[in-house]
Amino acid sequence: MVGLMASKVRLYVDHPLGEGQSVPLSRDQAHYLFGVMRMADGTVLSLINGRDGEWDAEVIEAGKKGGILMCRVQTRPLLMPPDLWLLFAPIRKERTAFIVEKAVEMGAARIIPLQTEYTNNADRIRQDKLQAHAVEAAEQCGGTFVPPVDALQKLDRVLADWPAGRQLMFCDEAMIGDPVGLPDIAGPWAIVIGPEGGFSTKERDRLRALAFAHPVSLGPRILRADTAAVAALTVWQQALGDWG
Ligand code: SAM
Repeated sequence: MVGLMASKVRLYVDHPLGEGQSVPLSRDQAHYLFGVMRMADGTVLSLINGRDGEWDAEVIEAGKKGGILMCRVQTRPLLMPPDLWLLFAPIRKERTAFIVEKAVEMGAARIIPLQTEYTNNADRIRQDKLQAHAVEAAEQCGGTFVPPVDALQKLDRVLADWPAGRQLMFCDEAMIGDPVGLPDIAGPWAIVIGPEGGFSTKERDRLRALAFAHPVSLGPRILRADTAAVAALTVWQQALGDWG
């Protein structure tokens, strides 16, 4: 729920933030701030809501079942990540959570779990839990934006509805050992990572036939899907993203 940065607690709240804005706390938030972190009236913490940047807020009322914070000053504006989606086939629960966490830290703007032919465990995907991981990651990494995590979507459907002008970095294990091959095209992008079993021949043929999909290699070794997600985000951010 809460992350630390430079010793100040950072908390995500689903509430507008602005100068003089009071923010009511849920029971869980109050328990964490006052029960676990031992905060009292007058303590200052950081708030984010994914829309209004980061604000210093002071504890005005500290109770066992709730409390009130008051926004004082904006400490950071909203910083949007590049227009980059991460599409990935869910794997085991904790590794799927890892992918969501790393996608937030690495600066993805939207996270889309994908049902592919060889996706396992898709029935165990909990969108609300994955969204909560995204919130925690934003609190922890100093982010002011929280990417939405979509419900599980079928790869076929996503490709059929693909938005005009968005490029797709198709991380294709069949390209192992080739040069990376990410084309230098500005604008909206997405990355797609396959499941443990990889893409089926049918999926690969379909992806390769799409003008917006660019097959890319992530080096000479087969990476696990969670490693591949981080590697792909790194390659893209370094070449086309906000790493300067
Ligand atoms: N079972 C597949 C095989 O043996 O070829 C490997 C699948 S890999 C564990 C999961 C996903 O990570 C792949 O579908 C691909 O998207 C990505 N991936 C892993 N290593 C890669 C590489 N060297 N180049 C491109 N993509 C890679």
